[in-house]
Amino acid sequence: MEIIREEKNFQREFKNPVLTIGNFDGVHLGHQRIFQRVKEKASEIGGESIVYTFEPHPVELLAPERKPLLITPLREKLRLIEEEGIDVAICANFSPRFASQTPEDFVKDILYDQIKIRQLFVGHDYTFGKDRRGNIAMLINLGKKLGFNVEVVEAVRVAGAVVSSTRIRELVQKGEVPEAAKMLGRNYPLSGKVIRGHGRGSKQLGFPTANLKPEGDLFPKPGIYATWTYDEGRKYAGVANLGWNPTFHDQKFSIEVHILNFDRDIYGQPLRVEFVERLRDEITFRGPEELIAQIKKDISQAKSILKVS
Ligand code: ADP
Ligand code: MG
Repeated sequence: MEIIREEKNFQREFKNPVLTIGNFDGVHLGHQRIFQRVKEKASEIGGESIVYTFEPHPVELLAPERKPLLITPLREKLRLIEEEGIDVAICANFSPRFASQTPEDFVKDILYDQIKIRQLFVGHDYTFGKDRRGNIAMLINLGKKLGFNVEVVEAVRVAGAVVSSTRIRELVQKGEVPEAAKMLGRNYPLSGKVIRGHGRGSKQLGFPTANLKPEGDLFPKPGIYATWTYDEGRKYAGVANLGWNPTFHDQKFSIEVHILNFDRDIYGQPLRVEFVERLRDEITFRGPEELIAQIKKDISQAKSILKVS
């Protein structure tokens, strides 16, 4: 996939461009359906499939108090869009200047004059621009006037509920990670580097935990989770703890995973942890012995959820 980081004036001509535009945070099942339609249409007319997206998230600039925690940091989002088989991602810098153009100017100057789109796909609830003045009706009108097709892609539902980035953020923050996974089409992950903690896991408890410095900032509800951890392409079952380690009166929030059947020094290495199911709240124990007994129970529960021995 080709990635273009300017919003316009790029020296690149597209062949019969079929485009969709949006934030696509999470690249969830609803987004995936839109990308599918874009690809189908592109191959039908021998064109290129293009996803036009923004960085930072427009809400961060337009309404900072409502700034969303991202499901997918940019790098992860682009990786997933590439996995969907899209030809080109255009990632526009959502600057004050960019935000100040009218929706009509954006469509005319960028989508039409610069990219020369043939077909535009948008999600069922797409709005853009200041005060959300850009909407589907406006796009359809502009398309008629300028000469490109606009198609609206209907929402995907899971158990009756519309799949949306907002809903997925809520589910993750409530610890309802299996429900979030159904809407994402994959488990919710956190990626980051392994950092040093107090060294307590291995020395005091006999259960080393890789402490993660996460790239994103959308964390599942504090507690204990059954997880899959990916290290150098291999997948390991495990148990993660998100919280403040109350038994040891830590002040700092930490994300730690004890990886099963694993014994290696991975300080400084990148790690990806997927949250499969929440087991329990973090509890304050009277001491390490009680905590160790509980960790053993957590591990056996995680094993049965993950179906490993
Ligand atoms: P820290 O407080 O620095 O995290 P720990 O005592 O918890 O120290 O040990 C964690 C480190 O041990 C990890 O960062 C990793 O390098 C190593 N390690 C070895 N085996 C495991 C395992 N099974 N799960 C997690 N980390 C492990
Ligand atoms: Mg640790």
